[in-house]
Amino acid sequence: MTGLRVLPGLVTAAVQRRTLAVWLGVRRRVAVLAGATGVARGRQAAVAGWRPPGTGGVLVVVAHPDDDLFFLSPDIVHDLRAGRPVVTVYVTSGDAGRPDRYWRGRERGIGAAYARMVGAADRWSTSRVSIGTAVMTEAVLLDHPAVRLCFLRLPDGGMEGAGTPRSGPASLQRLVNGTASVLWTVETPARAYSRSALLDVLGRFITELQPTVVRTLDHAGAWGDGDHSDHHAVARLLVAARDRSAPDVPVVGYVGYPVRDLPVNVDGADLNAKVDALAAYAPFDPLMCRPEEFQGRPEGAWLPRQHRVDRCSAAGASPSSAA
Ligand SMILES: [Zn+2]
Repeated sequence: MTGLRVLPGLVTAAVQRRTLAVWLGVRRRVAVLAGATGVARGRQAAVAGWRPPGTGGVLVVVAHPDDDLFFLSPDIVHDLRAGRPVVTVYVTSGDAGRPDRYWRGRERGIGAAYARMVGAADRWSTSRVSIGTAVMTEAVLLDHPAVRLCFLRLPDGGMEGAGTPRSGPASLQRLVNGTASVLWTVETPARAYSRSALLDVLGRFITELQPTVVRTLDHAGAWGDGDHSDHHAVARLLVAARDRSAPDVPVVGYVGYPVRDLPVNVDGADLNAKVDALAAYAPFDPLMCRPEEFQGRPEGAWLPRQHRVDRCSAAGASPSSAA
C-alpha cells in the first residue's frame, strides 16, 4: 500500500465526525419526513400557505420541466394565450442524476419558456410555500400572476424507474407500485413524501384551484412501453388523487415519448409556438440541443405531434369536451 499514513487517533476522530454528521443528517431527515407526512405540522409554521390564483383555470401536472412543452403543447399555449390561470406542478426536478445546477437550470429554463408562451417579460417572483403538510418552491410570473410554476423536486427515476446513483434505487414508479415507502427530494434539506402524502398534495391542488380541467401525462400506458417511468407514475398519482378528492374534475392525459409513432397533427402557428417555447428553454438545459438541431433526434418526432389519452376523463366528461 502506498500513500499517506494516518495516525489511528485521527482516523477515530474522522470516523466520529462522520458518524455525527450522518446521525445529524438522519435526524434532520426524520424531522422533515415527519413534517411532510403530517406528523409534526408545527415545524412548517415559517412557510406561507399556498394560495391559488382564484378558482377555475387549468392545472397541469407533469414529471419533468419540459414535458409540458413537448407533449401538452399546443394545448397549454392556447390556455395561456386565452388568459386562463395556469398552475403547473413539476413533481420531479428532472435532475437525471446530475448536480443541483442542472435541475436548477431546468427550472429557470421552463420559466423562460412560459414567459415566451404568454408573450410576457421573463420576470418571476419565487418563494417557498406549503400546501397541506408539504413544502415546495413556487414561481409567479410577475406580469401575469395567474401563471404559476410549482416545483416539488422529487428525484428523476430514470426511464425504467430504477433511480440514479445520486438518489439511489427509489423512484416514483416504485412509490406507486408500493416497493418503496417514501421518496426523498433532491434539495437540501431533503424532504420525504409517501404515496399517501403525494396524493394529498395533488388532491389539494385540485380542490383549492377548482380547475376546469387538469392536464397530465399518460396514466394508462404500461410500464416499460417506451415512455419514461416518471411520466406514467405522475399521471397515475394525479388520476388517483382526482378520483379521491374531486371525481367530477376532468383530467386529460397526453401521450409521452411513444407519441412519435402516432400521426403528425401539429403544424402552422401551433408548431411555431411550440418551437418558440422550446427555443426559450433549451439554453438552460445542457442536455438539450436547440430546436433547429432536433432533426433526426426523438425531439424532432415529438414536436409536430400532440395526442391525448382517451381513458383519463372523469365519468361523463370526454377529453374533447373538457379541454
Ligand atoms: Zn419527461
